[in-house]
Amino acid sequence: MNLILLGAPGAGKGTQGALLAERLGIPKIATGDMLREALRAGTPLGTEAKRYMDAGELVPDQVILGMVRERLAEPDAAGGAIFDGFPRNVEQAKSLDDMLGGMGRGIDAVVYLDVDDETIVRRMSGRRTDPETGVVYHVEHNPPPAEVAGRVVQRDDDREETVRHRLEVYRRSTAPLVEHYRTVGVPVHTVDGDRAIEEVQREVLALLDGRPT
Ligand code: AMP
Repeated sequence: MNLILLGAPGAGKGTQGALLAERLGIPKIATGDMLREALRAGTPLGTEAKRYMDAGELVPDQVILGMVRERLAEPDAAGGAIFDGFPRNVEQAKSLDDMLGGMGRGIDAVVYLDVDDETIVRRMSGRRTDPETGVVYHVEHNPPPAEVAGRVVQRDDDREETVRHRLEVYRRSTAPLVEHYRTVGVPVHTVDGDRAIEEVQREVLALLDGRPT
């Protein structure tokens, strides 16, 4: 199964993707996580990406596509993957189609997590990440355990002003992918993402099984 999670930043793609990956036994390929990892490791790629990330802009396609191509070649991705935060524009989507096509695969489904902008802004300003594990918490909805609470940090790009800019970038570059996938005949499932994590997960799993919810 090759599945794309679409949705604005903060719609819950990372959380839902991690649960799905565990449930379906396939890796989550999250380009944002890969970039942050490169940044932590101090690689030239990470340093190059940082200025785009801090500004809430998209990192150039060539950088992202090279990263995804390498990741898809790893053995654990042979049985499929859950894409989180990728593709971010139509060019990336077309390249992903080519990459998968070359492996005799294609996108099976798109899950679009629908959350309104104000909810996103509220969610993201409460988001905190454990720098040691990369696990994401929320100060209200999913607070970090006591032993982690002292070290969680807010991502620079989760500040309100940057979040609003990221939402604009999302609307301009990424939202058109819903139409793109519909046009090429990939099933696009719209899921109300403004609900409890478990409820959203249940609906997504039911949709992927082809069962009514
Ligand atoms: P995310 O964690 O997915 O919200 O990504 C954080 C930031 O990383 C984004 O705001 C972009 O600057 C960059 N980024 C992540 N994935 C992509 C991608 N597929 N294309 C371009 N930039 C990306």
